[in-house]
Amino acid sequence: MKREFKAEAKKVMDLMINSIYTNKEIFLRELISNSSDALDKLYYLDLKSDETTNKEDYYIELIANKDERSLTIKDTGIGMDEEDLVNNLGTIARSGTDAFRQSMDKKDLKDLIGQFGVGFYSAFMVADKILVKTRKYESDKAYQWESENADGFEIKEADKEEVGTEIKLFLKESDQDFNYDNFLDQYRLKELVKMYSNYIRYPIKMLVTKTRKVEGSSEDDPKFEDYKAYDILNSDKPIWKKDKKDLSEEDYENFYRESHYGFDKPLAHIHFNVEGLVNVRGLLYIPEKAPFDFYSKDYKKGLELYSHGVKIMDKSEDLLEDAFSFVKGVVEIDDLKLNISRETLQQDRQVRLISKQVNKKVKAKLEDLLSNDRQKYEKFFKEFGNNLKASIYESYGANKDDLADLLLFMSNKEGKPITLKEYKQAMKSTDTEILYAVGDSIEKIKASPALAMVEEDRDVLLLDQKLDEFLFKMLKDFEGLEFKSINQEDEVSEENLEEDDKKLIDFLKEASPEDIVDIRFSDKLKDLGSIIKQRGDVSIEMEKALKDQPNAMGIKADKVLEINKKSKAYDLLKEAFANDKDKAKMILGLLIDQARLVEGLDIKDPVAYAKNIWKLI
Ligand code: ADP
Repeated sequence: MKREFKAEAKKVMDLMINSIYTNKEIFLRELISNSSDALDKLYYLDLKSDETTNKEDYYIELIANKDERSLTIKDTGIGMDEEDLVNNLGTIARSGTDAFRQSMDKKDLKDLIGQFGVGFYSAFMVADKILVKTRKYESDKAYQWESENADGFEIKEADKEEVGTEIKLFLKESDQDFNYDNFLDQYRLKELVKMYSNYIRYPIKMLVTKTRKVEGSSEDDPKFEDYKAYDILNSDKPIWKKDKKDLSEEDYENFYRESHYGFDKPLAHIHFNVEGLVNVRGLLYIPEKAPFDFYSKDYKKGLELYSHGVKIMDKSEDLLEDAFSFVKGVVEIDDLKLNISRETLQQDRQVRLISKQVNKKVKAKLEDLLSNDRQKYEKFFKEFGNNLKASIYESYGANKDDLADLLLFMSNKEGKPITLKEYKQAMKSTDTEILYAVGDSIEKIKASPALAMVEEDRDVLLLDQKLDEFLFKMLKDFEGLEFKSINQEDEVSEENLEEDDKKLIDFLKEASPEDIVDIRFSDKLKDLGSIIKQRGDVSIEMEKALKDQPNAMGIKADKVLEINKKSKAYDLLKEAFANDKDKAKMILGLLIDQARLVEGLDIKDPVAYAKNIWKLI
């Protein structure tokens, strides 16, 4: 009797049959992973029953038959009875076929099939006829399910002694578009198992043809013969499940390379096993070099996610915070449901817990490097420091408490990068601020007059990355210490100005451009006539950074002009103010322009500036 597929299943199968999808080979992963599930179920029952279990009885076997052009995936798992066959291979258990179809054009089919629980049907991508022979655990009958071109299916009783399932695929005819005979080739099959199912926990075996020297044939003219033997195609144990002490640095590096995490060497690895509410094992890597697209939009973060020895996701984004998006590796969770959809995965409380563990491990490793292998950490920070900073910046400082300790900044006093904590530890207990200076390069910052004016025993962080100052604004403070630019004006209590000076300042303010919001006389300026300091939140460096951005036009720092009271300029200014107001304005102009130049700001009229200098001399 021919039975009809349920409408939804029929739709999916039609999609599969007509699929022009290039990764047709993933059908093998799907069938092997179904077999592995079936083995899990039986193994579990056997463990519960009193019968002795023999590990060797649980296996998966691939049988390629070139005469028939068939490939059989056999397992000694739990098997199916008639009802199972109708329910499992005639309908789609999980709803969401429509969602599946809709996402099919957008997403990678390879990731979708598993997620939507339609793995079995993917066999129709490579086969036009499928025969399932199966016998369920503790059942006295075996059955055969058969479907040609997914046009309904038939179930009848069959002969099968062993408990388990054999899925025989009669491959489609090869044509110029696709060579289905590939799936009969022992080398190709081996390759596919290595690629997609290497870490299945049961042996996947196959009878393969090998060659050996005929015994007794001479060394000079050896004769060879073919023979058949079983090969286990998958790894006996995934590396992350192995004991650390059985693994060498080389093993870790090899796995990094084999898994295509990068072409570089890993800078460090994190091999962990957390037992608790959820059991998580993992092997994570911090690369040595950022991939070429790392700082672009194309880069996708994520970790491989395994459950029960089966890879359920190539890149699970949810496991990694953005700050650690450079991390590569694999995580395995044993109690996560296989084939869970991405949407569910995101909401899964378990996944949140796991993600927390994973990120904690990464942070701990970085802290460890920071305190125990400074050189390595500095190397890391050069490569990925901007990613940590960007993530603080992009989260508006929400994650700053977690990450602030990992940041490095160039110390003026130490001449090397230090952490904020180290700055704090080294400063006097009476200081309340972390001082910083911003500029295009460390050399330029070091030459700035404002830096020369800082008290000698105070350290200053030298920031040569445009992002850094914005970052400090995001951090707001570090353990109660505020960040203060050395260009920030000093807090001055009520100024005791002489009457003459007061009048002069009023006159100068009146004559200044708008962005000079205040003018002061100072005796700390050494050999410069004047400098500019900033007031408020927009700094001079920000003004410079924003200048080139079309949507930030006109944003200017509020500037305070400090005039050196001990300079000749001051004397000239005073004299001119008494006798020649125009000349006083000209001197003011020079003092402003000169201070702007020192800060790397441009000046309005360089020609007038040059002429006026000569007028004065
Ligand atoms: P999923 O595996 O996501 O449930 P599939 O379409 O791949 O979706 O398989 C449907 C169901 O068929 C499985 O859930 C399982 O109950 C049953 N099944 C498939 N293959 C086997 C097998 N080799 N042994 C026992 N049951 C199987």
